[in-house]
Amino acid sequence: MREPAAPTDEGSDSASDFEFDVVPDTDQSFENALAKARAGDRLTVDDGIELITTGTDAPGIDPIRKEQVLEAADRRRAEVVGDEVTFVANLNNNVTTACNTGCLFCNFKNTAHQFEADYDGEHAGFTKPPAESRAVVEDALDMGIYEVTSVSGLHPAFALNEEHREILATYDAPAKEVDYKPPTVYETDPGTYVEQMRAMSVGGVHLHSMTPEEAQHARRGTDWSYEEVYRELKAAGLASAPGTAAEILVEEVRDVICPGKIGTEEWVAAMEGAVAAGLDVTSTMMYGHVENAAHRIEHLKVIRDLQDRTGGITEFVPLSFVHENTPLYENGVVDGGASDAEDELVVAVARLFLDNVENIQSSWVKFGNAKALKLLNCGANDFMGTILSEEITTRAGGSFGEFRSFDDYVEMISAIGRTPVERSTDYRTVRRIDIDDRPHGPRLGPRADGTPMLDGQSPAGSDPAPADD
Ligand code: SF4
Repeated sequence: MREPAAPTDEGSDSASDFEFDVVPDTDQSFENALAKARAGDRLTVDDGIELITTGTDAPGIDPIRKEQVLEAADRRRAEVVGDEVTFVANLNNNVTTACNTGCLFCNFKNTAHQFEADYDGEHAGFTKPPAESRAVVEDALDMGIYEVTSVSGLHPAFALNEEHREILATYDAPAKEVDYKPPTVYETDPGTYVEQMRAMSVGGVHLHSMTPEEAQHARRGTDWSYEEVYRELKAAGLASAPGTAAEILVEEVRDVICPGKIGTEEWVAAMEGAVAAGLDVTSTMMYGHVENAAHRIEHLKVIRDLQDRTGGITEFVPLSFVHENTPLYENGVVDGGASDAEDELVVAVARLFLDNVENIQSSWVKFGNAKALKLLNCGANDFMGTILSEEITTRAGGSFGEFRSFDDYVEMISAIGRTPVERSTDYRTVRRIDIDDRPHGPRLGPRADGTPMLDGQSPAGSDPAPADD
């Protein structure tokens, strides 16, 4: 049992500033919840809350109970996926930072009017036409990438295809009603989503793109279903969709941090549409801002239910909120992010609660090396990707997003006694890497031949990438 809205520990605790209806108050005991977790029983929301809060009535996390939860999760990880730690050779290519959605945790975007041809101020954003996106991916293919991830702002000129542009243009006040302005208004035309997919799905690369929020933008102002939209994107080269834009899938939290974004129901509908169209999807949770422990578990429940219905989720990615330079922090709504203990417990409880999702990611972009390695012993088994460029996280004040070489991966993973494994995006193709078998370059990408990728920095010409995956 736990006091309503009590802090989860000394780290992020702006949650107590809000009068939320969903609070971490249960009739379960920590001991019962832990016993169920150890036995491999399916956990209830109350079980999850007990585990993630370590069940204490007083504010703060009990360090002994925390270790018990981490140990149970680590054991479960070993049972489910063994000792392998996977990673993928990938590139992030974001098409545009133009966005009017105004999420309060985001410092990636620039308001779209700054991109208009007659705007005479300065801004640090960018828009890449399809040909530029293609060139970035082409270069990275030669370096051995398997996957390109692309997550972008919701540029008002973006539409699914030419037909969509025509529909949007029929509105009386398209800018107001459907956030649409024709490409001629802007200095750079982003093309359509279909054109961007065609451009980036070059040379056999796996294209991972179109979040639920982007899919909604690609159907705004129409009655098209998510499945139809994803089918068209798939025909243009899309291979899987990131389950980002999830943040916390509880409305009262979304109302505070991203009131302009789609709601939980819409997010779930988009993911179901993607799976119905034959795409794999990932899942995420961005935590450590205004939410409390109960919101985190309710979010995991949404993911678990979605997976029960679809079976299409390949991994769960916990994203610890990077607060610096975000409106939430600058306006004093939050005074920091999650603590180390909270991060560990989120990973561990995700492993225990999500009994139908095999892979749990530890994100070195969000956590830095030491902590990301620690999280591999708290239930995580995936160590994300090389990420030839990273922008959203670095612009938000994070300092870890750049590039991770295969050598680094192999050495770090071997140093904690685990087996480094190169993987495909969908985890269906894997290659165990022998530390003595040099060079440690990628081999699964369409042009990968084992040659090491660049060491320690982003290659010239390739542009930064998104934080949410
Ligand atoms: S999180 Fe995405 S939708 Fe929200 S403001 Fe940033 S770029 Fe726009």
